[in-house]
Amino acid sequence: MITTFSPTPRTLMGPGPSDVHPRILTAMAKPTIGHLDPEFIRLMDEIKVMLQGVFQTQNALTIPLSAPGSAGMEASFVNLIEPGDKVIILQNGVFGGRMAENVRRFGGDLVLLETDWGRAIDPEQLRTALQAHPDTKIVAFVHAETSTGVRSDAKSLCEMAHAAGCLTIVDCVTSLVGCEVDVDGWGADVVYSGTQKCLSCAPGLSPFTMSERAASLTQTRKTPVSSWFLDMNLVMGYWGAGSTRAYHHTAPVNALYGLHEALLMATEEGLSAAWARHALNHQALKAGLEAMGLRFFVPESERLAQLNLVEVPAGVDEALIRRALLGSYNLEIGAGLGPLAGKVWRIGLMGYASRAENVLLCVSALEAVLAQSNASIHRGQAIDAVQSVYASA
Ligand SMILES: *Cc1c(COP(=O)(O)O)cnc(C)c1O
Repeated sequence: MITTFSPTPRTLMGPGPSDVHPRILTAMAKPTIGHLDPEFIRLMDEIKVMLQGVFQTQNALTIPLSAPGSAGMEASFVNLIEPGDKVIILQNGVFGGRMAENVRRFGGDLVLLETDWGRAIDPEQLRTALQAHPDTKIVAFVHAETSTGVRSDAKSLCEMAHAAGCLTIVDCVTSLVGCEVDVDGWGADVVYSGTQKCLSCAPGLSPFTMSERAASLTQTRKTPVSSWFLDMNLVMGYWGAGSTRAYHHTAPVNALYGLHEALLMATEEGLSAAWARHALNHQALKAGLEAMGLRFFVPESERLAQLNLVEVPAGVDEALIRRALLGSYNLEIGAGLGPLAGKVWRIGLMGYASRAENVLLCVSALEAVLAQSNASIHRGQAIDAVQSVYASA
């Protein structure tokens, strides 16, 4: 017999969704009101202003799309690309590969530049490609590659692309609020994110921002945007300025209550404090896991604090370990993707999940479970190593 669904509470330390803050869950349980109710429109306006704050942008077109991060990606490409446009994709993991797929599907002329998985994108690679392809219209890349735990230098890449007269699309799904995202400082044209990573919010929305330059391009296209739902010219009829909002689709009202609360919390904490918190918890996790003898996959200077790739010790069945963590500790960590499947774990410290109690839980649980499976690790030192990072912070 089917009854009310009652999920077991878990600690979410994978690549997303991450732990949702209780304040946000409470906000989402408030009464649903009409999506054109004046009170709701006030909420929408506040969301836009706070989103500009976390993206560090003055872009008027800054809204949450009513669909997950993948919709933000698709909206970026479908609005900017016209058939035949040349697009450079800088790929260093799974999500860059999805960008390339978007270019192919929307009729773009794809130039795909690949970097080894686990390494940041090399700006010199872009410089050479821009010289070889002076007719490039768009350059796109992932700032924080969740499949590899790597951060690339978005500022240098955007500046180089602009100097060559290109527009830029930057995926900040995993970076927003977890480390610095500076849309106006970078001069990025289209940037999108997701709510379920460092915003501590439930999955399902995609914060999205577009520069004047990119917005005017979508208004003067020769061909209509080939997605009706994601056509920014239509979406802005609903999310745009003023009280005459035209119905486009029914906004996910309660999900937006959650995002409003998440943005309020990010604003209260302050962006620099949030980045520092993510960095500190990463240092604590690293100290604990290294004391156990585990190794990090990504070179230190290119690592994300919010998503840690840890190498699976020789002879250990990584899936068995994840199952034991979930079964005995209600703790979820992520598996490796693509060429890294079976070789690494992906441990997220995103948003509300980035806190000391989670680091302590993860380190102690992993030590116990690895010891049980006879992995050769150092025992009894990890928790002290974690505590000493917090003590000296
Ligand atoms: C999670 C993620 C996405 C996709 O977001 P969804 O909300 O799962 O659609 C896109 N890009 C990156 C870098 C991500 O980590």
